[in-house]
Amino acid sequence: MASSGRLTAGEARWHTAAQILTWVRAHPGGTRAELTQDLRLNSGLATEITARLRAMRLLEETPAPRATGQRGRPTTVLGAHPEGPVLLAVDLRTAEWRSAVVTLDGQLTETASVRHGSRSPRAVLAAIRGRVDAVLRAYGNRVRGVSLAVAGTVHEGRLVQSATLGWRDVDLGLVAGDVPLLLGNDATLAGVAEARTGASVGASTALHLMVVVGIGGTVTVDGRPATGSHGAAGEYGHQPYGDRSLICPCGARGCWDLEVDGRALARHLGVAEPQDPAAFLRDHLGGGAAVAAGDAVAAGPADAAGPAVARVAAALGGGVGALVNVHDPATVTLGGLAPLLRRAAPDAFEQAYLDGLMAFHKGRPPAVVDAVHGDDGPLQGAAVLGLDEITSEAALAAWATLPLPQ
Ligand SMILES: [Zn+2]
Repeated sequence: MASSGRLTAGEARWHTAAQILTWVRAHPGGTRAELTQDLRLNSGLATEITARLRAMRLLEETPAPRATGQRGRPTTVLGAHPEGPVLLAVDLRTAEWRSAVVTLDGQLTETASVRHGSRSPRAVLAAIRGRVDAVLRAYGNRVRGVSLAVAGTVHEGRLVQSATLGWRDVDLGLVAGDVPLLLGNDATLAGVAEARTGASVGASTALHLMVVVGIGGTVTVDGRPATGSHGAAGEYGHQPYGDRSLICPCGARGCWDLEVDGRALARHLGVAEPQDPAAFLRDHLGGGAAVAAGDAVAAGPADAAGPAVARVAAALGGGVGALVNVHDPATVTLGGLAPLLRRAAPDAFEQAYLDGLMAFHKGRPPAVVDAVHGDDGPLQGAAVLGLDEITSEAALAAWATLPLPQ
């Protein structure tokens, strides 16, 4: 969307404004007095800038209720302006896509979920483009960006590959038309959501890992993901923590991806690779090693899958340990099916995790906790990073050039 780098003089004027909008998003119900203190602004300057942001349709101020006996001057509660910039966040998933209109205070509104009619890229992208056009008709030039999370590897605006969608080398640029488009991998964005508003808030460095089909994730530093120079970083599933005799669909040998999901479980159980590896894994994890009725292995005893599940859980735990050695995170969050997998074989997971750690980490291993955003993580993360973009100095400078409505 916007390029990073040095600010022009025109953009630098918006630096404090961008800080204020970021603060308002992080402090729902926060007052101007609190903002003034947190950002160490002089109170005259705070009053002046908030008035300017109000006039620019970026901020709304309402009188704060005064507690009985409260001293000092009355203050105001800060919120998003009702006619301010908005963002469309979209999460393109295996079976459906979800969307939400996001306001500057971080609220997701008009959320919708649409199942794919056909899974062809052309049909799915046309359906999303239809939503973008509808939001443009409703909001006009208030729409400042489209932030798209996608279940696959993203590289310079293209979806390089998606095992779950079955897509290869698809140009995603068409979905947004003339509106700036921000693209992100779903697991990366879910990690951003955990770091900003979820289970790893406050961790300077956090690692998020998500199992669906294969495993992806991100490391975040102060809530920002390390996305690489082309947006393709975080392909943890394609580290050689797996069986070197297996070649991954990605082209590399021995990928961890092949060890931590429904494909691995089927292999260990000696059954054919399932059509839907995520559903297959989920069916075997509900209630420990229970097997779904009608499943190919359901004829055996209920605990027949136990050792195979433990093997998959151990493959997950061992890789988490290896990645803790790489990133030294304060917290590790697990999303997708990973929490269920760990819960199905907690001892196998824990043992492999500790075994994978370098000795100096073993005394105080980072906590490995469940993600709190669950299925909503990618959409929430797309909203967070999209709002970072549309409240950047450059984006505010561009917003300031728009004519005000009569
Ligand atoms: Zn691979």
